[in-house]
Amino acid sequence: MFDLVLANGILIDPEKLIRFTGHIGISGGKITAISKTELPGVRQLDITGKIVCPGFIDIHGHVELDAYCGELSLRQGITTTVGGNCGFSPLDINGFFAKQEKDGFIVNQAELIGHSFSLRDKVGIKDPMQPATTEQLAKMEYLVEEAFEAGACGLSLGLAYAPGSSDEEVSRLSRLAARYGRIVAVDTRMATGIDMYSLVEAVNIARHTGARVQISHLVYQYGTGMMEEALAVINRARADGLDVRFDSGMYTQWATHIGAALFQEDYIRDNGWDLQDIVAITGPYNGQRLTPALYHELRTQAPHTAVVVLTGIEEEIYLALTHSFAMPSTDTGAYAPGEGHPQIAGSFPRYFKKMVAERYELTLMEAVRKATLLPAETLGLHTKGRLREDMDADLVVFDIKTLIDKADFGLPDVPPEGIEYVFLNGRLALDHGVIRDAKAGQAARCIKPVYDYQI
Ligand SMILES: [Zn+2]
Repeated sequence: MFDLVLANGILIDPEKLIRFTGHIGISGGKITAISKTELPGVRQLDITGKIVCPGFIDIHGHVELDAYCGELSLRQGITTTVGGNCGFSPLDINGFFAKQEKDGFIVNQAELIGHSFSLRDKVGIKDPMQPATTEQLAKMEYLVEEAFEAGACGLSLGLAYAPGSSDEEVSRLSRLAARYGRIVAVDTRMATGIDMYSLVEAVNIARHTGARVQISHLVYQYGTGMMEEALAVINRARADGLDVRFDSGMYTQWATHIGAALFQEDYIRDNGWDLQDIVAITGPYNGQRLTPALYHELRTQAPHTAVVVLTGIEEEIYLALTHSFAMPSTDTGAYAPGEGHPQIAGSFPRYFKKMVAERYELTLMEAVRKATLLPAETLGLHTKGRLREDMDADLVVFDIKTLIDKADFGLPDVPPEGIEYVFLNGRLALDHGVIRDAKAGQAARCIKPVYDYQI
């Protein structure tokens, strides 16, 4: 007798690449049986006609235990989110995981250790244009190892946020990631909106250090008419035997805080951005386009105000995500209700709607694989992203015919429709839009080496 049986679902197995109608038995938080014949359960849920697959893994987010941000992720069918991206993370990774293990959380959370804000700040580098000294670098190496020992899944670099980071700094920390078999997630150091060298620099981290490189939100970096060239750079690196992968979102308009180094006046000029194409998405000016006066006020008085930059070519979103080593991501972050970017609530349903149901860019099987198994393999999360016995019972049940994102600019946190159930560690967390359990998520520590798969 199983704790729970999901009966008559359309099962999508991204490892075996098979799809069939069947039953899933769950006990003790794990998938304990998958069968074409009926299974006995203490509790039975009939999901006839609905798709059931591993829960989505969002390889690029910034949830960081923020309950509302986590809730918006869960509502998209995300069961595991990866935080600590773009160079910004907690420093006490063990404490971060321990808190989640004690209290639970609304989704499972894996974590990276962030270089460009967090480690640099910790060792006393206050100027983003300043490289680390030898002593500061040695301290950072110690902290990175400590984080990896605690189960951080990788190192994250936000090179645009710390343009002064030296090559030595980047390569020595990346070599540590290589030694531990962990990824280096790179938010590339774009100097201008047409800077393909920034991607070559990221690929060269893999070439020179042996690290596995995960390029962050490719469409936000190169979705301005450079996507074909960016994919050619990545393909060339892969052909050379380098493990280079990437994530990419469903929008072209990226968000960050106005105080960031990349919003210095000379960067804005070099990128050819008009101030009126930069829009505040938090605070008292939410929804307003910048003027020179408002730009000056926010940069000096409220540098944490989030803004979006209206840029990019929509077709390049889809082009990026058709690549076999592309993973959909949200780049989500914590905002107050009613504030923020629609990526926080709409990304994964939009991915399935656009890429599968509307545009036929991907088969449903391939779309599921890229949202589940591929990030699990990339990170080294061996019990996630797979639909088989002994795997964590993180599952999403949805209807591809009705799945639709509802979030938009101005209404950024409206949840999607069509996500029917989400289970975390065998517990029902979301039931047709109703949160049933906000504590079912667990820490997802990367402990074992990733190399027992190799593609
Ligand atoms: Zn990010």
